[in-house]
Amino acid sequence: MTPAVRKQVSEGIQRQLRAAEAKAKDDFTLILIRTRVRSAEKRVADETFGKCTIDNKTINLGVLQKDPSQPYCEECERRIAKIHKWLLKKLSESRKELDGITATTRSILKNDSAKTIGKEGDIVLPDVDVPNIRSGRLKQEIRQMEESLISMAKGEYDGACESCEEPIPEGRLKIFPGTKKCTTCAGGTKKERD
Ligand SMILES: [Zn+2]
Ligand SMILES: [Zn+2]
Repeated sequence: MTPAVRKQVSEGIQRQLRAAEAKAKDDFTLILIRTRVRSAEKRVADETFGKCTIDNKTINLGVLQKDPSQPYCEECERRIAKIHKWLLKKLSESRKELDGITATTRSILKNDSAKTIGKEGDIVLPDVDVPNIRSGRLKQEIRQMEESLISMAKGEYDGACESCEEPIPEGRLKIFPGTKKCTTCAGGTKKERD
């Protein structure tokens, strides 16, 4: 890449960033956009720009003209785009469920009639352990999904198990899009394995 081309590519990436930032609806989306653009600029600087970050195949020029921060070749992008869609859907569902639990727990704790007076005359709060366990689990899932989206933005996500490096089956990713392990490495039973 000549310095002139590099400059041109960099400007294209910056233009994309500004256009995407203007459309972003929340802070997390902004983080994703900036991460993606920063990673693309890093690839320009270290001369790996235009090569798929997964298999090193050349990314179609037409793709890069439309989307200069695209880290994946068309073949990899098809697979990643599917997981990306599952991640966004599940992430929004999980965030909604967590908000619901948080609101319910808060109203239970606020509701005086739900409180009882204990033997010592102290106030006994209603049991919120079950929703707490569920919200803890949801928070963990949300964090994992956000991490996956960030690593996609960096071009580092390849859908492989972090333990055995085998591709995680799509059936599993569809249900648990944030998972980083295949069923075997996650310790699932034989019956659960794909
Ligand atoms: Zn590829
Ligand atoms: Zn594995």
